[in-house]
Amino acid sequence: MGAGMRTSIVAGNWKMNGAFGESRDLVMALAAGVGEGGDAEMLLCPPFVYLDAAARWLESTPIALGAQDVSREGKPGAYTGEVSGAMLADVGCTHVIVGHSERRTLYGETDDGVVAKFRAVQAAGLVPILCVGETLAEREEGHTAAVVTRQVGAVLDTLGADALGEAVVAYEPVWAIGTGRTATPDQAQEVHALIRALIAVQDATIADGLRILYGGSVKGANAAELFAREDIDGGLIGGASLDAAEFLTIFHAATG
Ligand code: PEP
Repeated sequence: MGAGMRTSIVAGNWKMNGAFGESRDLVMALAAGVGEGGDAEMLLCPPFVYLDAAARWLESTPIALGAQDVSREGKPGAYTGEVSGAMLADVGCTHVIVGHSERRTLYGETDDGVVAKFRAVQAAGLVPILCVGETLAEREEGHTAAVVTRQVGAVLDTLGADALGEAVVAYEPVWAIGTGRTATPDQAQEVHALIRALIAVQDATIADGLRILYGGSVKGANAAELFAREDIDGGLIGGASLDAAEFLTIFHAATG
């Protein structure tokens, strides 16, 4: 089965950027430019505090809403500063990014913690976007496959292939995030195919249907050649998602 059977997703990860008015202007510009949606899905992941407003701005548009992180705790309680999956569902999110490399590197998230968050997202009825990817040192030492296998394996071995039936994976080489250095289509395709093969060992149907996004310095100028590859089903976009024209160019590269 080729990429044609899977609907691509172009997701914007705003990280800790923007302010209220700026966020509204960005959403409005994207809503005006997205068209009918159709061949690809657009997803926006603003900071927590803007999610509720963003859900209103996105009403009657085909654009979906996601969060950048979630608490691993499944039940409400004394967890100061945490935001649960149920709360994210309540304000209109459908997706949640888990295990972004900035969370892993800057905030000490482990594979086990990422699995717990993945589980919490699905328990709330939402779709996790599981981020995986190697550092530059790991790539240079030839450990890319081992690292990605370990990160995907943490979910696969704990929750089983079924859990990936309602999930999205994002391959984001750490050396390509925010650096302007994009993986070549060949480098990305190789890892995407590896991820799909890992899952296919347990369940070929789920592997075939899984959307695997590429992330790492995707821009309007390089999106089309990445998205054309067989196992690349769209992108997770950081910096370029803050510019409406640039993000729309990337989105339209996925609908072509
Ligand atoms: C990201 O943070 O998920 C990302 C891919 O960032 P950028 O597009 O800025 O490299």
